[in-house]
Amino acid sequence: AEFITVSDLAEELEVKPTDVITTCMNLGMMVSINQRLDASTIELVAAEYDFDVEFVDAEEMIEEEIEVEEDKPEDLEPRAPIITVMGHVDHGKTSLLDYIRKAKVAAGEAGGITQHVGAYEVVTDDDKKITFLDTPGHEAFTAMRSRGAQATDIVILVVAADDAVMPQTIEAINHAKAAGVSIVVAINKMDKPEANPDKIKQQLSEHGVIVEEYGGTNQVALVSAETGDGIDDLLEKVLIEAELLELKANPNRLAQGIVLESRIDKGKGTVANILVQNGTLKVGDPFVAGPVFGRVRAMENEHGTRLQDAGPSTPVQLIGFDGTPQAGDRLIVPKDEKTAKEVANQRQQIRREQSLRRVKHMTLDDLSRRM
Ligand code: GDP
Ligand code: MG
Repeated sequence: AEFITVSDLAEELEVKPTDVITTCMNLGMMVSINQRLDASTIELVAAEYDFDVEFVDAEEMIEEEIEVEEDKPEDLEPRAPIITVMGHVDHGKTSLLDYIRKAKVAAGEAGGITQHVGAYEVVTDDDKKITFLDTPGHEAFTAMRSRGAQATDIVILVVAADDAVMPQTIEAINHAKAAGVSIVVAINKMDKPEANPDKIKQQLSEHGVIVEEYGGTNQVALVSAETGDGIDDLLEKVLIEAELLELKANPNRLAQGIVLESRIDKGKGTVANILVQNGTLKVGDPFVAGPVFGRVRAMENEHGTRLQDAGPSTPVQLIGFDGTPQAGDRLIVPKDEKTAKEVANQRQQIRREQSLRRVKHMTLDDLSRRM
């Protein structure tokens, strides 16, 4: 594997790039300034300058940076479940999300949804909340997962009653299972005359999603995203599942969340959609989101309402970033601003070097002079 370039190494060693090139030449290697060097060359060159090199796994370093205290059981309170809708193309994911958004969100909020914040909150008839991630599909889910992030508690698996279990249905099942996320089945398009929910249940059972009447534990609702039939039943079943999962969070601590999306706005700078997962995010809080430092300047919910604070399972649009984080980056409010800045700086350095070196990382700290 190749790691840093000649000029990076020169910088770390505090010498001129031409010195490194000369040293390499003396060691019998012709290198150019932008050439990446392998581990043994780096060690050889560094040794010429009395440096010791230690290679460290950058991922491990990132994990170690911020210590997040575990919550005490007595501090935990129930929180709204966070839902992702998945399923085969054309089985009705977008229609289902649209129906729920229109029918269930507008209820209490005069303006309905005016702002895309990446997720929205639904309040059921008996005043229970559910947070829906706004983008259906596997890509967002796997992108998050590949970054070690999990933004979902329950997957609603949409299967069209007039079709069958299809490749992307199976893919969704596999993703959900790999992530340890519960599956609630929505058999959609029940308004169609050719709807055959029994066939779907049968086929699902062959893929390990087994509804009660087949002796399993997966909740299933028969719905139509077109007429709205069965949607209340679906939401109720989602809440039953959520209750079984005992989803809890501690609203009285510094916030932790996840970046759902981010973009650069000409006037506001970076605007990111954040899902608060634990604690309460407040205006003025310093934070680190992936490698980006920031301070909460303003938050708005999906109704365009300004918020002073946002508790667990709340999606918000946030401004106040010093850079642009990526979807899946974790947002953490550390104990003070200094820590947030330090961690952001350290991560920026790690990511810079990681992108050059891909696999391994040599830190400045580890380049200790041999006395
Ligand atoms: P997605 O690809 O999973 O997001 O599927 P869409 O929501 O785009 O739906 C695909 C097609 O199925 C569209 O033409 C929808 O109007 C239609 N559709 C979705 N849900 C229903 C339903 O419950 N009943 C009927 N009859 N059509 C539906
Ligand atoms: Mg769609």
